Amino acid sequence: MNIFEMAKIPMNQAIAAMQLDPGAAAVIAVPERTLEVSIPVKMDDGSTRVFTGYRSQHSTVLGPAKGGVRYHQNVSIDEVKTLGFWMTCKCAVAGLPYGGAKGGIIVDPATLSARELEALTRAYITKIAPLIGEKKDIPAPDMNTNGQIMGWMMDEYSKITGQFEPGFITGKALCLGGSLGRTAATGRGVVVAALEALKLKGIAPDQATAAVQGFGNVGSWTAKMFVENNVKVVAVSDVKGAIYCAEGLNLAAVEAYQKETGSVVGCQGTKTITNAELLALEVTVLAPCAMELQLTKDNADAVRAQIIAEGANGPTTPDADAVFDAKGIFVVPDILANGGGVTVSYFEWVQNLYRYFWTEAEVIEKQTVMMQKAFHEVHEASVKYQVNMRVAAYIVALGRLAEAMKIRGIC
Ligand code: NAD
Repeated sequence: MNIFEMAKIPMNQAIAAMQLDPGAAAVIAVPERTLEVSIPVKMDDGSTRVFTGYRSQHSTVLGPAKGGVRYHQNVSIDEVKTLGFWMTCKCAVAGLPYGGAKGGIIVDPATLSARELEALTRAYITKIAPLIGEKKDIPAPDMNTNGQIMGWMMDEYSKITGQFEPGFITGKALCLGGSLGRTAATGRGVVVAALEALKLKGIAPDQATAAVQGFGNVGSWTAKMFVENNVKVVAVSDVKGAIYCAEGLNLAAVEAYQKETGSVVGCQGTKTITNAELLALEVTVLAPCAMELQLTKDNADAVRAQIIAEGANGPTTPDADAVFDAKGIFVVPDILANGGGVTVSYFEWVQNLYRYFWTEAEVIEKQTVMMQKAFHEVHEASVKYQVNMRVAAYIVALGRLAEAMKIRGIC
């Protein structure tokens, strides 16, 4: 099944449960606009390569579109449409004044030199410039993009408009108007959500264990925030494999080893296991923080965690959700659990618009309060409509979108 159609399954369950107005449901089922661009880049060897990029704005009903830009060889138009749809729902669940968007370029950035990467980035911004801006659509980092790339994007966009444009993009370096607390924000939010789920289940953090799939931005911060909150992290992984230590991993050592070798696998004092074995560990919390479609009908039965807190976007298929419901596994869905990144991106945008900056403690406090509120709003909807947390999160999001569409006269 096409990933966008699969992503809409829980949304359709929410539409049925809440008996959403069919007009609102029809509007939400399709992105507002999707742009495909060709991006010619002069390579270091003198040749010219033409890359394909996208920017899909799923919704601007609740505010300017918001969402990251992904550089990956598997980027596709369906993927960016799906990720943009998830951003709309994520922002609505978090209570942010934003719609949703996503962008991407079909490229393996590891094959480019730094100069080629910069040229590609600048050319992409030139091509999508008519769609973006601080009141229109605000990009951010996603897989394989970072603060350096956001800096090039900001510089290019500022050249195009002829003015300093920090508010057009988030995830920037601090010296360009980035927010304190942004790098850790998604992982911190995953842990805020997981701690609320532990509370509901009456499990003290120091009695809990966690396994984290993926050790990039989201996974590594999720692991560190678990440890900061006294949850023992027994396993982490990356694309090359997973590592396990029953006594709890020494994350500083794992990070240092990863920096030196490019992978967590082989870190001293740990046992090497596979990613499949990590997903099946008997832990309190499993946090898939790598990529989409990791928990499927083929491996859902093997999962023994009590709680799944989704750091990645779309790690669980609808088939796997049904298995988790049957097994009584409490899933904190992506559009709730990984909303910490966009929440602090929102804080960055607010600080840029005001040209006034907050302390890290203020950012963390505001993020924590917003995410706890979102968690409980979703949980209340789950109890009210007798649905799982994923369907409940869509009920909260769709309710907010439908109300705004009605008042705007869209449907
Ligand atoms: P990243 O590139 O920094 O890290 C991805 C990690 O996953 C790496 O450690 C990589 O080795 C690992 N990985 C990739 N494929 C794997 C596989 N098949 N099995 C196991 N590990 C694998 O990316 P990120 O920014 O951490 O994003 C991870 C996920 O979180 C994505 O789904 C992204 O859309 C989502 N997300 C990111 C943010 C953010 O702020 N960065 C916010 C919300 C959601």
